[in-house]
Amino acid sequence: MDLLLSQAQRLFIEDIQEFITSEITPYLSRWYQEDIFPKGLLAKLSSRERLGFSQKEGLWQESTMSDNIVFYEYMSAASPGITVAILAHTLLGLYILYHWGNQEQRDKYFIAGIKGEKLAAFANTEPDTGSDAANISLEGKEVGDSFLLNGTKMYITNGDLADFLIVSARTDPKTARRSEGISLFVLDTACEGLERIKLPKKGWLPSHLARLSFKNCLVPGNNLIGELNEGYKLIMKTFTASRIAIAAMAVGTAYGAYCLALERARKREAFGKKIIEHQAKAYEFSTMLTKIDAARLLVQRAAWLKDKREDYIMASSQAKLFAAETAKTVTSWAADIFGAAGILETSPISRYPGDAWAASLGEGTSDTQKLIIWRQIMAQLEKD
Ligand SMILES: Cc1cc2nc3c(=O)[nH]c(=O)nc-3n(C[C@H](O)[C@H](O)[C@H](O)COP(=O)(O)OP(=O)(O)OC[C@H]3O[C@@H](n4cnc5c(N)ncnc54)[C@H](O)[C@@H]3O)c2cc1C
Repeated sequence: MDLLLSQAQRLFIEDIQEFITSEITPYLSRWYQEDIFPKGLLAKLSSRERLGFSQKEGLWQESTMSDNIVFYEYMSAASPGITVAILAHTLLGLYILYHWGNQEQRDKYFIAGIKGEKLAAFANTEPDTGSDAANISLEGKEVGDSFLLNGTKMYITNGDLADFLIVSARTDPKTARRSEGISLFVLDTACEGLERIKLPKKGWLPSHLARLSFKNCLVPGNNLIGELNEGYKLIMKTFTASRIAIAAMAVGTAYGAYCLALERARKREAFGKKIIEHQAKAYEFSTMLTKIDAARLLVQRAAWLKDKREDYIMASSQAKLFAAETAKTVTSWAADIFGAAGILETSPISRYPGDAWAASLGEGTSDTQKLIIWRQIMAQLEKD
C-alpha cells in the first residue's frame, strides 16, 4: 500500500481545493441559512468529472476508492452536509445503477445523474427499522408486468429533492429469512402516490432528509434492478463500499474542526499567552491529530483493499467505526477550544459536532459496525 500521493492525486487535490474555494466557500453561509442543498453543484462537479465516474473510449468507468476518499475527505473538511448529499447521489444511487442497472435504467437515470441533470436518493430505512436493514416492510406487489409500492421510508438523504429514487421493497413476504424476498426498484419521484416530507434536523446541514410515503405507486417491471428478491445482497455490497467514503467524510469533518481549533488557539489569548502556548492544550492538539491520522490510515487501507479486489468487509467497518468515533471526539473538543464562542450558531465550529454525530449514524451506527466486525471475526474463527 503506497501512502505517498501520486502526481495525479496531487493535481486532483488542487482541483478539489480550487472547486471548494470558487464554488462552495463563498456561498456556504447562505446555503446553511436557507438549509437548501444547491442541486446546481452536481452539473459543476460533472463538468470536472468529479462525480465518481468518467468516460473512457465511450465507456463509463468508476473512480478508484482511493481517489474517492481523497475527494470526500477534502470536501467534508469544508462542508460535510454538502458532501453527504453528493455521496448519496453518487456512491448510493449511481453506484447501484452502474453495477446492476439494465441498459434502459442506465440510459434514463445513470446518464442523467452523471451529467448532474438529475439527483438520486437511495431509500432503505423505514420508521420501524434501520440498523436491522433486512427487516423492511414496504410492500412491492407484482401486478401484471408492474409492481405496486405501498409503505414508508424514513431518514432519506436527498429524499424530497431527488428526481429519482432507488427503493427497496419486500416482493416476497413468505421467505424463511428476512434478508430474502427484497427487491430494488428505480423510479421517478413524479410517480403518482408518492408523498415527500422534508424532516428538520441537526447535523449535515444543508443536506436534506425526508420521509417518503408510497400509496399505490405503480412501477414498471423493467424498473426492477437486478434479480427479483435478490436486492438485499446489492444493498449490503453498496453499503460496504460507500461506508469507506462516509469514513473519509468523518476524517474530513474531524480535520476541518481541528484546523479551525488550531487557528483559534493560535490567536486567542488567556492568562497572558495564546491558548496554544498552554502546554495542556498543546498536548491535546498532538493527541487529536494523531487520532485523525490513525483514522485516515484505516480509511486508506479499506480503500486500497477494495481497489485490489480483496475482501474489505471488515476493513470498511473498522474504518467507519474508528473514523466516526474519532470525529465525535475531535469535533466536540475543537468546539470547546472556542470557549463560549463555540456554542454560537453563527460560529462555524458549532456545526461540526452535529456533523460528526450524523456520520456515526448514516450507513450504520457504530454498534452496527461492531456487529459486522464481530461477524467477520467469527467467520474467520470458523474457517481456521
Ligand atoms: C443524517 C442521516 C442520513 C441518512 N440517510 C439515509 C439514506 O439516505 N437512506 C437510508 O436508507 N437511510 C438513511 N439513514 C438512516 C440510517 O441508515 C439509520 O438511521 C441507521 O441505520 C440506524 O437506524 P435507526 O435510526 O433505525 O436506529 P435503530 O436501529 O433503531 O437503533 C437504535 C440504537 O440501537 C442500537 N442498536 C441497534 N441494533 C443493535 C444491535 N444489534 N446491537 C447493538 N446495538 C444496536 C443502534 O446502534 C442505536 O444506538 C440516514 C440517517 C441519518 C441520521
